[in-house]
Amino acid sequence: MSMKAVEVDRPGGDLKLVERPVPDPGPDAVRIKIEACGVCRSDVATKDGLFPGIVYPRVPGHEIVGRIDSVGANVVAWKLGERVGVGWHGGNCGHCNECRAGDFTNCENREICGITYDGGYAEYMIARQSALVRVPDELEGAAAAPLLCAGLTSYNAMRNSGARAGDVVAILGIGGVGHLAVQFASKMGFKTIAVSRGRDKKVLVDGLGADAYIDADVDDIAAELQAMGGARVIFATAPDAKLISSAVSGLTPRGKLFIVAAARDPLTIFTPAILSGRSIHGWGAGNTRDSEDMLAFTLQSGVRPRIEKFPLERAAEAYAHMLTGRAQFRAVIVPD
Ligand SMILES: [Zn+2]
Ligand SMILES: [Zn+2]
Repeated sequence: MSMKAVEVDRPGGDLKLVERPVPDPGPDAVRIKIEACGVCRSDVATKDGLFPGIVYPRVPGHEIVGRIDSVGANVVAWKLGERVGVGWHGGNCGHCNECRAGDFTNCENREICGITYDGGYAEYMIARQSALVRVPDELEGAAAAPLLCAGLTSYNAMRNSGARAGDVVAILGIGGVGHLAVQFASKMGFKTIAVSRGRDKKVLVDGLGADAYIDADVDDIAAELQAMGGARVIFATAPDAKLISSAVSGLTPRGKLFIVAAARDPLTIFTPAILSGRSIHGWGAGNTRDSEDMLAFTLQSGVRPRIEKFPLERAAEAYAHMLTGRAQFRAVIVPD
């Protein structure tokens, strides 16, 4: 039996539609018949070889929802026909120092979906059992897929940030991650300030639940946030080091800047600006149980991504929409 997949055959190569044999799962893995796969900015790492040790050809994609259609011999907790998802966390070893301390996402031998093994730009994929997330039937596949990376990152960073109901919380960047972060912040009870560049973004932010919008092209972000009493937490979702650096003075004393997406350039932090106990944190996604908590919260609260669907044959176009910021807000690949 063969399947369609979209692969990259070398760093910087094009995304190409190919026919491949449908793979069989090893003993600790399952095969998933894919319903949908979101296109995340981190897929650039696969396409352009920005992650060390990628073996090509490689199928990108780490925001997958589908159903288990074959189960490996050692798999005990997952059944044929079960609805599952896979995010960036592609599995952990269970025996390294970090795993033994319960920090599975920082496993020294961690697998990354779409990086260390083939991901979701395909009709089928193989996933390690330690990567699997249960996905409720009430969530449409294409809507649930982006939640597994973009949604998890914002939800999990937010619930671990120390922000409390009523606190001013700012979201920098309103794209794939940011438009979900605004919704999560609003539903968690924070005074939610959306920050981006341009008036056109303000129109897009309407309906996401933001209490105010700051246009970084014309407004002084820090001054605007201070006029609101200062932000207890700022979540930086855009790869825009200048924007992030300029926002730090908008924090309250002991306020926290959470970096949840990689920026291309280094940050410039004026050190006196953080001597009041302000701090800078990095945050990356979460474990599979965090994902299930997040999906349950989206069902409870109504948080949903805004998506554009593309068939597998147009994966390269979906990727280009993501890269140029044309996707409103998340491109999702849906195999026929
Ligand atoms: Zn991602
Ligand atoms: Zn480990």
